[in-house]
Amino acid sequence: VKRDGRDSYMEYSPSFAEKNVSKIVLFEDLKKAIEENQLLLHFQPKYGLAHNQIEGVETLVRWKHPEKGMISPGEFIPLAEESDLIIQLGNWVLKEACYQYKVWEQQSYINFHLSINISPKQFLHPDFTDNIIQVLEETGMSPLKLDLEITESLAIENTESTIEKIQILKQYGIQISMDDFGTGYTSLSYLSMFPLDRIKIDRSFIQYLPDNKDHKAIVQSILTVAKNLNIRVTAEGVETQAQLALLHQLQCEEVQGFYFSKPVPPDSLLAHWNAQLMS
Ligand code: C2E
Ligand code: CA
Ligand code: CA
Ligand code: CA
Repeated sequence: VKRDGRDSYMEYSPSFAEKNVSKIVLFEDLKKAIEENQLLLHFQPKYGLAHNQIEGVETLVRWKHPEKGMISPGEFIPLAEESDLIIQLGNWVLKEACYQYKVWEQQSYINFHLSINISPKQFLHPDFTDNIIQVLEETGMSPLKLDLEITESLAIENTESTIEKIQILKQYGIQISMDDFGTGYTSLSYLSMFPLDRIKIDRSFIQYLPDNKDHKAIVQSILTVAKNLNIRVTAEGVETQAQLALLHQLQCEEVQGFYFSKPVPPDSLLAHWNAQLMS
């Protein structure tokens, strides 16, 4: 990079350049990772409070980089979302997770749904629904057990097309959850526009419970509205007994978080499930 253009070199400061080089390197590595099977899936249980049972498991992708070790999805998902790589990555996760579900079914009696995070670009892709149906057929997984976690921003920015697509998916019996609810400034009235099965209250509203009165009020309102609209509610990021006790008292139906389990590899997830069956 030449610095001959008076002020114009500002944006080429070393830190900027370095940042971008490492980003480009990471991007190339990620492309390779998908092809070379460096990605893997972990699963985090979601518990139903009525029966104290695992009701679903959330699929969370992991990247085991050959040199850098484990890289967090918080780092590489946003990178993938900047290009069409997220489509490829999302399709890989979808297929792999559905296959995993079938493997569990062969290993044991299971009765929980499988949640998969869907990025907005992936959801809005014209082939999305066809692709889902194809993967379900290919893997033999029941659509009734599949749950797609979509985001608030997707719903706000593409309301019409999102509603349309949700309706198609629901015809197959696929469940739809709205993830990270509360972070995207959606008003509660928005909820009635989407045929949702579930909303997940973002961890930022759970984190400071039970002490934070504002957050308690927000959680309470979400629960009240959701109940009236016949939408289930999951509280995410539950870490303490005190949080759990309050959520129980507020009649929240589902909880997920480190208090119960971190995301774990497939075998450990099945062990959790089997241990519960025996207790
Ligand atoms: P998310 O969908 O909101 O997933 C929940 C995140 O919170 C996960 O982080 C999970 O490990 C973490 N978590 C769960 N319980 C607790 C808790 O009690 N305390 C704390 N501090 N954290 C908790 P993770 O696995 O690092 O994933 C981060 C984000 O990356 C996810 O947020 C999701 O947006 C995205 N992501 C992960 N896998 C996929 C995927 O397959 N596809 C897409 N599109 N996005 C994914
Ligand atoms: Ca999620
Ligand atoms: Ca979430
Ligand atoms: Ca979140």
